[in-house]
Amino acid sequence: MSKGSIGVTTNNIFPVIKKFLYSDHEIFLRELISNAVDATQKLKTLATAGDFKGDIENLKVNVSIDKEAGTLTVSDNGIGMTADDVEKYINQIAFSGAEEFLNKYKDSANAIIGHFGLGFYSAFMVAKKVEIRTRSYQDDAAAVRWTCDGSPEYEMEECDKAERGTDVILYIDDDEKEFLETLRIETLLRKYCRFLPVPIIFGKEQEWKDGKMVDTDRDKVINDVEPLWARTPSELKDEDYLKFYHAIQPMQDDPLFWIHLNVDYPFTLTGILYFPKIKNNLDIRKDRIQLYCNQVFVTDSVEGVVPEFLMLLQGVIDSPDIPLNVSRSYLQSDRNVKKISSYITKKVAQRLEEIAKNSPKEFEEKWNDIKIFIEYGMLSDEKFCDAAMKFMLLQDVEGKYFNYDDYKKLIEGEQTDKDGNLIYLYATDKETQYPHIKAATDKGYSVLLMDGQLDTPFVGMLEQKNEKSRFVRVDADVIDRLIVKENTTQSSFTHDQEQLASSLFQSQIPTIEKCNFMVNLAAMKADEMPVVITQSEYMRRMKEMAKFQPGMSFYGEFPDTYNLTLNTAHPLITKLVEDAQAALGEQIKDFDNKLAAADAAIKAIRNLDKDGKGVPEDKKEALSENEKQAGELRKAKESVIADYAAGQDKVKQLIDIALLGHGLLKGEALSQFLARSVNLL
Ligand code: ADP
Repeated sequence: MSKGSIGVTTNNIFPVIKKFLYSDHEIFLRELISNAVDATQKLKTLATAGDFKGDIENLKVNVSIDKEAGTLTVSDNGIGMTADDVEKYINQIAFSGAEEFLNKYKDSANAIIGHFGLGFYSAFMVAKKVEIRTRSYQDDAAAVRWTCDGSPEYEMEECDKAERGTDVILYIDDDEKEFLETLRIETLLRKYCRFLPVPIIFGKEQEWKDGKMVDTDRDKVINDVEPLWARTPSELKDEDYLKFYHAIQPMQDDPLFWIHLNVDYPFTLTGILYFPKIKNNLDIRKDRIQLYCNQVFVTDSVEGVVPEFLMLLQGVIDSPDIPLNVSRSYLQSDRNVKKISSYITKKVAQRLEEIAKNSPKEFEEKWNDIKIFIEYGMLSDEKFCDAAMKFMLLQDVEGKYFNYDDYKKLIEGEQTDKDGNLIYLYATDKETQYPHIKAATDKGYSVLLMDGQLDTPFVGMLEQKNEKSRFVRVDADVIDRLIVKENTTQSSFTHDQEQLASSLFQSQIPTIEKCNFMVNLAAMKADEMPVVITQSEYMRRMKEMAKFQPGMSFYGEFPDTYNLTLNTAHPLITKLVEDAQAALGEQIKDFDNKLAAADAAIKAIRNLDKDGKGVPEDKKEALSENEKQAGELRKAKESVIADYAAGQDKVKQLIDIALLGHGLLKGEALSQFLARSVNLL
């Protein structure tokens, strides 16, 4: 028997391991099983090279618990170790500058373990004593027993072990007893070892017999040794992908698409990413991509490795090239990781383009479900955006799909305004915006449906990307002013008539909370609506964007400002204005004459102010007198018109019809409207 001191420069590494690695205790199992799996893989490599002639058919790892003895054992029938190997690989841990390193990385157990080949020593996080019994594959090698009780001293001696391979026996610490529970270990095995390439056996399969569960003689294999992503895509069928999806994402609907990643240059990466069907926002979770390193589960927080917008996808990524054992911030700045991330983005874009090209019908059917990913991606990733311009779809209000370029060509002729801007008309709600949609389609325009959660910022992004393109919601103005052509007809009203019409209607607009209305006039067509309510694209969009950008929240507080546009070509409007002129003409003329006199007086006094120093002192009183008078005259004139308008049911009726068309007529105003309608009939 030999005794020795483990070759680390730090005097006693074990307390350090226990202390600093506290939060990650469970990973000891992953480390030991990884070593065991490695040992079997090494034997395979030797056999392939012809250096090992024995049987490699039945390679496996066995995990067992002995509650009475308080031990947990990981056994393999891999390469095993000679006494020299144990000396070299276990006793002499290459460990220079250990303290410095530990200080630097004390927050990250993974960092220490991976970096320094401390995998095996992580056993001391949970064990008071560790025993290794190992026998090398080499014919003449004697079996070795090594024990260590957590101090840097170990014991080593020859022992009896008939079979090739290694048993690592952990004498579990009193305060780590959870690792002697079958359920706990099985859960850990399923988490970390589910897809390891060698069978991991934990006890026996059970069956129901004579009223209780009993062990059978079949080994219970925890893992799937050849997971789907490790297989060749051309050999796989859709069913295989669906089955695998449901295995890793139980209780989910079928995914929409999947992408099988498979690269070996300039880095190695395999994986399968699924586009899930998102039913509602609650479904969006960001821990649904699992990261593996040679089939060993590493983490399901893949920030940095997978581009942000693809975190909504589900599936697995396996790469030995991702520096798994370093801190998150390091991961995000790592060049390899950046390359991987942009590779995944590229691959996803390629695959989508392929589907859009080869199965356009299928792509259209699924568009509404994947739209949110694509828009999110286009908004957050410049490169993806450029790639996606080729396959993203626009849908019109009739449900027809177009690709961006085709759509542009389609509307170019009709929907270019006099300044050469291409105007994309869109609706966000087919039902409530129906009158506006109809006005546009009657004119031969096409209207898109933009009712997605991200459509507001998305539309803004498309405008930025495409010069001289503007997106305007159909109810942002009356149709002729949405796309202004050269030949817009002028209002046939005189200035006085326009003023009268505005006052007539402005005075009768009901007060609606958080809504402002501005009356204006437009010469539309006689068969278009007499009064239309619209809301300017700019203000509406600013308010909507406020929901996405925290800094803009003040916009959200503004009242909604609507335009109430009178169609001066409509006989009802003309008639109302003519009637008002007939009834109020004399009074208004009187007001106007007096106003003209007051205004002339004001102007004359102001003109005395030649050098900008203000009006002469002795004229000031006259000025304010005249100004006051003009103000009162205006008010009086408005109130005469308002009094008259109040008696005109048709004015109110027309306003209410317009409000109704915009979903703004509610409550008492609505019941008044109904009563008035009956009266008018
Ligand atoms: P790493 O696995 O990162 O090299 P470890 O501390 O986990 O570091 O293991 C050190 C070495 O001990 C391994 O590289 C391997 O040579 C040897 N070893 C550990 N476990 C086994 C095992 N089950 N079978 C054979 N060799 C092993």
